[in-house]
Amino acid sequence: MSRQLIYKSLLVIIIGCLTFLGGLQLYKHRHFQTPMVAGPSVTQVKKLSDYVPDLKGTMADTNVFFLEGKEPGGKMLVIAGTHSNEPAALLSALIFLENSTVEKGTLIIIPQFNNSGGRNTRSGDGYPLYFQIKTRWGHKKFRMGNRVASPLDQWPDPDVYVHYPDRQLLSYLDIRNTNRTWPGRPNGSLMEKVTYAAMELIRKENVDLAIDVHGAETMFPVTNCIVAPENSLRIATMTSLTLKATEGFDNHVEPSPKGFRGLSHREIGDFSDALPFLLEAPIPFLDQPTGPKTVDLLLEGKDPFLLKLSKKGKLFVPYDEQGWPISKRVGQHCSAVLEIAKQFSRRNSEKALKISHVPRYADVVNNGVGFYYKDPSKADKKNVFYN
Ligand SMILES: [Zn+2]
Repeated sequence: MSRQLIYKSLLVIIIGCLTFLGGLQLYKHRHFQTPMVAGPSVTQVKKLSDYVPDLKGTMADTNVFFLEGKEPGGKMLVIAGTHSNEPAALLSALIFLENSTVEKGTLIIIPQFNNSGGRNTRSGDGYPLYFQIKTRWGHKKFRMGNRVASPLDQWPDPDVYVHYPDRQLLSYLDIRNTNRTWPGRPNGSLMEKVTYAAMELIRKENVDLAIDVHGAETMFPVTNCIVAPENSLRIATMTSLTLKATEGFDNHVEPSPKGFRGLSHREIGDFSDALPFLLEAPIPFLDQPTGPKTVDLLLEGKDPFLLKLSKKGKLFVPYDEQGWPISKRVGQHCSAVLEIAKQFSRRNSEKALKISHVPRYADVVNNGVGFYYKDPSKADKKNVFYN
């Protein structure tokens, strides 16, 4: 064998080993399951595929939890994990799922809406694959996902994404973004089927309030806010004012633009009777001029570059050495969801919702997020669900 052939063979073996080792990590990440303990009010667990059967058996299918009160009332849907790289949403939804006592009305929770996006990563940005939250019984491990669905589940992308039904031209990548594919269609792309399934759920279950929970960069003006279309503006404004007055944190209202299509806060209201809201809490991790994308940055939100930019007035939220810890962001989401339900109930007594045992902002900031998670190894197996 010539020397050259030996070198080439060695090179192929080394590249093969590196590809295998790298791929193995991604394979494990894609198949990692997060246990969730269904709380005392969970009466049914459905799947998105119950609304669009084509989703069955795909990575896009996901759990839909129903928490029904003894007394009839309004119905509120909480969607988390539309963007799986904004984890405060999932962490808040999990607090509602594991702790809520629903006395009146129905709470419907989808903790990992873009389930395929939750099994994807952004390798070029050096995202961590997992993060852990400290609880009273140890650490709870979560997958860190991406903004868009995995190309393993929906591919190829077009040069330009033509939104259905408005034919607005959007970035090619947004065809895998479940906050651009609303209202969806039953025979469209996989992500159009996901949003269509949620629209069908909203219409068939007669959902009154639909809240899509997110996080946004501190350098982006639409952050630390509630985005609401015309019909939801009154409740959003009362929620924002009440939170500021009683709990002391800012959460301003942003009107949903009519001309920007495909977003939940626009299409849910236009294609159903539900009132949509989209919650944004700051997530410094997603800002571009930061240090390495570490788990610490994700959970604590402390970054020296953002601190400098804040002093130059470049950020849209207050920012100091404390950063933006995950407990503040999750606490804000918990309070905002509860307050929207309260403001709606005040105006619609026959469709009131009564939810208790969910912490508000100050409780989550004082106790930490993990304080509210149940130990899946101690829970009754029939109440533990994996996604
Ligand atoms: Zn988002």
